[in-house]
Amino acid sequence: MTLRDIGEFGLIERIHARFGGNPPAEPAAEPAAAPAAQTPSSKVHPAPSSSAALGIGDDCAVIERPGDLLELVTTDLLIEDSHFLRDAIDPRQLGRKSLAVNLSDVAAMGGRPRAAFLSLALPGEIELDWVDAFLEGVDERLSESGVELLGGDTTRSKGLIVIQFTILGDVERSHLKLRSAAQPGDIICVTDSIGDSGGGLQALLDGVERTPAVEQLVRKHLDPRPHLAEGAWLGSCRGVHAMIDLSDGLESDIRRIMERSHCGAEIEVSQLPISSELQEVSAEHRWSAWELAVGGGEDYALLCSVAPDLYQEIAEGYRHGLGGELHAVGRVTADGVGNDPVYLYEGRRVDPTRRGFDHFRSE
Ligand SMILES: [Mg+2]
Repeated sequence: MTLRDIGEFGLIERIHARFGGNPPAEPAAEPAAAPAAQTPSSKVHPAPSSSAALGIGDDCAVIERPGDLLELVTTDLLIEDSHFLRDAIDPRQLGRKSLAVNLSDVAAMGGRPRAAFLSLALPGEIELDWVDAFLEGVDERLSESGVELLGGDTTRSKGLIVIQFTILGDVERSHLKLRSAAQPGDIICVTDSIGDSGGGLQALLDGVERTPAVEQLVRKHLDPRPHLAEGAWLGSCRGVHAMIDLSDGLESDIRRIMERSHCGAEIEVSQLPISSELQEVSAEHRWSAWELAVGGGEDYALLCSVAPDLYQEIAEGYRHGLGGELHAVGRVTADGVGNDPVYLYEGRRVDPTRRGFDHFRSE
């Protein structure tokens, strides 16, 4: 058996089985008739159960600290030719994106990023202009996010560029959002249109003509925005239960919530927020926009589950506070545990043909 046979999720399960001695902390049950959706001060989640708190199995590790703040840590590895093509992304965008994808994991926990560490392996022949532009992109994204670079490591590689970020952040104890907290009946929501990044990737792969709509999709693919303000805001909402960022696509990421929360999920495909650009380009090139929205990865919007009785209040507050829509796209179900998510199109069952990107299986 090879790594390809078990896939990326299988590898993570294996590592979890060996090292994940502390099971992910389960959130406390929420009072049934909570009067207010947003309660910055009340303690909803219990303190994680040990000093090691929460290890493998969520967007960040959570480390217990004295006082009201929990520490968040996340790290990610980007390898040339697996995660990016040197000739297809300009180094400034690569710097911005490689940091953004890590910041997004802190947002997914309801937290705020504070500090970054960058380790780089670079081939000796790389142009200094490339390095300077990459660092400029990193610097831009750091400034935009209020995060400081505090250290890291550099080494020479034999050929490929390897980028690793580690991010430290924090979250108020009562704001911590876990993948394991979804409850049957919850409304499943996303914080942005989805599928644009997948459409942008498709456009790059197909070499389609660069219309303004195509440019917008490509920009969303190459320069995704981490939803930091959205994550912190949703973190402060008691009615928001589970949260994750959309890195591998709705199809893959909803499964992670289903697995950790022991629930099923129904997605109403006609409710998926699809941008006018994706609709336009999909119609032009006969792509299925909703399949891109389901299976395309790297949107880095947030996916969360919201108590049904608080959804209206939270969606209004979200619109007011952040100027955007909290799109309802489905619901959490008690049945369907261990099954595939169910996709409905205007009530009729449909099956997506695209799957979220799995790094070992999709070679
Ligand atoms: Mg994530």
